[in-house]
Amino acid sequence: MTLAERDKAVIWHPYTQMKGALPNIPIVRGEGAHLFDQDGKKYIDAVSSWWVNIHGHAHPYIAEKVAEQLRVLEHVIFAGFTHEPAVLLAERLLPLLPGKQEKVFYSDNGSTAVEVAIKMCLQFWVNTTPAPRTKIIAFKDAYHGDTFGAMSVSGRSIFTDPFKSLLFDVEFIDLPNAQNIEQLKFKINYLSNEVACFIFEPRVLGAGGMLMYKAEYLDQLLSTCQNHGILTIADEVMTGFGRTGTFFSCEVLNNEPDLFCLSKGLTGGTMPLGITTCNRKIFEAFLSDDKLKTLYHGHSFTANPVSIAASLASLDILLNPRTIENIQRISEKHSVFARTITGHPKLKDVRQTGTILAMEWETGGNTSYLSELRNNLYLFFLEKGIILRPLGNILYILPPYVISNQDLDYIYETIHQALKDL
Ligand SMILES: *Cc1c(COP(=O)(O)O)cnc(C)c1O
Repeated sequence: MTLAERDKAVIWHPYTQMKGALPNIPIVRGEGAHLFDQDGKKYIDAVSSWWVNIHGHAHPYIAEKVAEQLRVLEHVIFAGFTHEPAVLLAERLLPLLPGKQEKVFYSDNGSTAVEVAIKMCLQFWVNTTPAPRTKIIAFKDAYHGDTFGAMSVSGRSIFTDPFKSLLFDVEFIDLPNAQNIEQLKFKINYLSNEVACFIFEPRVLGAGGMLMYKAEYLDQLLSTCQNHGILTIADEVMTGFGRTGTFFSCEVLNNEPDLFCLSKGLTGGTMPLGITTCNRKIFEAFLSDDKLKTLYHGHSFTANPVSIAASLASLDILLNPRTIENIQRISEKHSVFARTITGHPKLKDVRQTGTILAMEWETGGNTSYLSELRNNLYLFFLEKGIILRPLGNILYILPPYVISNQDLDYIYETIHQALKDL
């Protein structure tokens, strides 16, 4: 039996209708921006393996640091105990975050980082007021993860449909623009005293279709929230660690969110790890002689030392000037390429923030064509040795920062070809 056949016999893959699913491609090795299958075929990983890989695959420096940590301490219960890597990462990360973030709470992934942030906000109000606020504001096309709380604050879609009656109510708002910003501020003002928090993906909504909106409008929403004491959660799970051109996407804002959610690029894409950070205001609302005011939340692998060793190593690489140059290089090359396809009759929109370039294909509003187009695009690029995984009719490039100019040019050329052929 081939590996793909053995896989089919025992494995249920994520986001996959298993009926009639194409055989999964066995990957045996990764190096830099490349993945190799068992037949030796090379693929350019143009989506950073689900947006996590920032320094390339099997990075030798991260591998060394992870191996070192494994030989010293692989895991320890994180209640009643601590360890050097956990403290060091918090010490290094907090000053890099915009504003005054004071505490790090560790978990396992992006969804858990979001769950923790939501629970911190909701319990903040329970701990501090007799009639706690319970409403949450989120963007209509947001994606914050797949666990129940994270699903609740994500836009309603086919992903959430089977569970919709069980998801808690959220006040969804449109992405802000010049036309609707006053209306959105009016809505927040109107709801003000009931709202516990506002959760948002800063400047780029990832899974919602790489939707981009201006920092100045986000700033206005944040000001409005802050005027009413509404807590603000920046979900930087996808946008963090250089992805949008700045270290964090929120760096360009004038307002400081109260909490941040981090994961994906946090470990350089090597190990699972999630972080929720908060400022002093949130943390102090939990300090009490009353045991009920404790945040009773944790996971078995909270602050896993091996994951954190990967994060510390990733941070070393990220802060290297060469990485910053790479981020700028990719951003500049994307802009030059974007100009060559903007206005193409097959494209409804071309948009870019930092290292993310998204192309929205025309579908003529035909939904059956949409899914066919998505599969055609995916298979077209796969056949050419490029991993691009469109979100419906949105094709996007989100590469590891080590990707070469030659690889980028090959991806751009192949997109030109797809615009001709598909
Ligand atoms: C991917 C993602 C999540 C969920 O992270 P997982 O590690 O997949 O649970 C949350 N928020 C955003 C913005 C994401 O892109």
